[in-house]
Amino acid sequence: MKNLERKYDYLIVGSGLFGSTFAYEATKRGKKCLVIDKRKHIGGNIYCENKEEINIHKYGAHIFHTNNKEVWDYVNQFVEFNNYINSPVANYRGEIYNLPFNMNTFSKMWNVATPQEAKAIIDKQKQIIKDEPENLEEQAISLVGTDIYTKLIKGYTEKQWGRDCKDLPAFIIKRLPVRYTYDNNYFNARYQGIPIGGYNQIIEKLLANCDVELNVDFVKQREKYQNIADKIVFTGAIDSYFDYKFGQLEYRGLRFETERLEQDNYQGVAVMNFTAREVPYTRVIEHKHFEFGTQPITYVTKEYPADWQLGEEAYYPVNDDKNQKLYQKYLDLAKQENNVIFGGRLGEYKYYDMDKTIESALNLVKKELR
Ligand code: FAD
Ligand code: UDP
Repeated sequence: MKNLERKYDYLIVGSGLFGSTFAYEATKRGKKCLVIDKRKHIGGNIYCENKEEINIHKYGAHIFHTNNKEVWDYVNQFVEFNNYINSPVANYRGEIYNLPFNMNTFSKMWNVATPQEAKAIIDKQKQIIKDEPENLEEQAISLVGTDIYTKLIKGYTEKQWGRDCKDLPAFIIKRLPVRYTYDNNYFNARYQGIPIGGYNQIIEKLLANCDVELNVDFVKQREKYQNIADKIVFTGAIDSYFDYKFGQLEYRGLRFETERLEQDNYQGVAVMNFTAREVPYTRVIEHKHFEFGTQPITYVTKEYPADWQLGEEAYYPVNDDKNQKLYQKYLDLAKQENNVIFGGRLGEYKYYDMDKTIESALNLVKKELR
């Protein structure tokens, strides 16, 4: 029998893409949901702030891309997407290279024209890696050789993650395509784009029919919220839920510096990566280019990677062996919590893109709300 003190079927902690997708599907099935978030706005990291008709990606550039038609159709029911294709450029001490690593990059780097010439150079340079790559450095060199590793990967990666490439897992660099064609599309994805008018519309529609409370930190107000619902879907950091009893999981932090410039086109591209170690930021985002803006002014954001400390926004999980082991301990505890489900980038301590976040929330819906 339903406990009458409990006002809701689900308390959803976190109004990011995971929590909001779950809330929408649960509400659609007649469940009563309360969504709380410690931030002052909904949407988690996909939140945009509109200034002078430019959608500013407040928590870093977000480009939707997926190979999953179900997920693509899912998001398209809430908003129309434009035909933006992410084609960032890398700036290494003033030299400009196309990304991801493709024939345009190789041609600029070595003045070659054919895939055969590029392959021959990479094959020669990667000979220093004899065995199966065991870390990011070895993986990168075996994919693209030493020149590209040195100019376009090493500095960027070491500032992004705050550690040596030899101490990072190989999978991080496998996110980037390597192509022997002249194709600057950053993603190998069948479907890609930016929501016309920004991401907020998706979250607003997902949460339209449930209760939402902002500026509420579940961990600080447990007594009030712990028993408000039959079940909790927790999308905050899993270690925070357990009061860090085994120690803190590590995250990478970010700092964003945004300025308005009195010019219509600052850098000619939405995303420019600064790959030299001595430049303190990793990327400069010119937001208007995501939506082909024609405003007379522009907004640009420098993205500075930063060490993360408790109390700050946790952006990237650091999925090295040490942290994975610690996460496993929290996961074992999580399995014993009967009425709490952990999900999303922080709840599962996973480097999820938006499509994988939605996929994972929809999988939970299939299990939980049959
Ligand atoms: P979040 O968006 O982090 O939402 C979690 C929410 O929970 C937050 O709003 C937080 O405030 C709230 N919360 C946490 N703890 C508590 C608490 N104790 N009490 C109350 N509320 C709490 N994906 C792509 O597909 N393409 C991209 O180009 C892309 N670029 C990215 C760039 C950056 C810099 C980052 C960091 C991520 C990027 N992503 C990208 C990934 C994307 O942001 C995630 O897939 C998605 O936002 C994850 O949603 P989520 O709901 O799991 O987490
Ligand atoms: N990377 C790099 N140079 C670049 C861009 C990316 O070395 O110019 C590496 C870096 O290690 C980064 C990883 O590739 O963490 C994945 O890049 P992606 O753009 O997917 O990172 P995200 O958007 O998740 O920050």
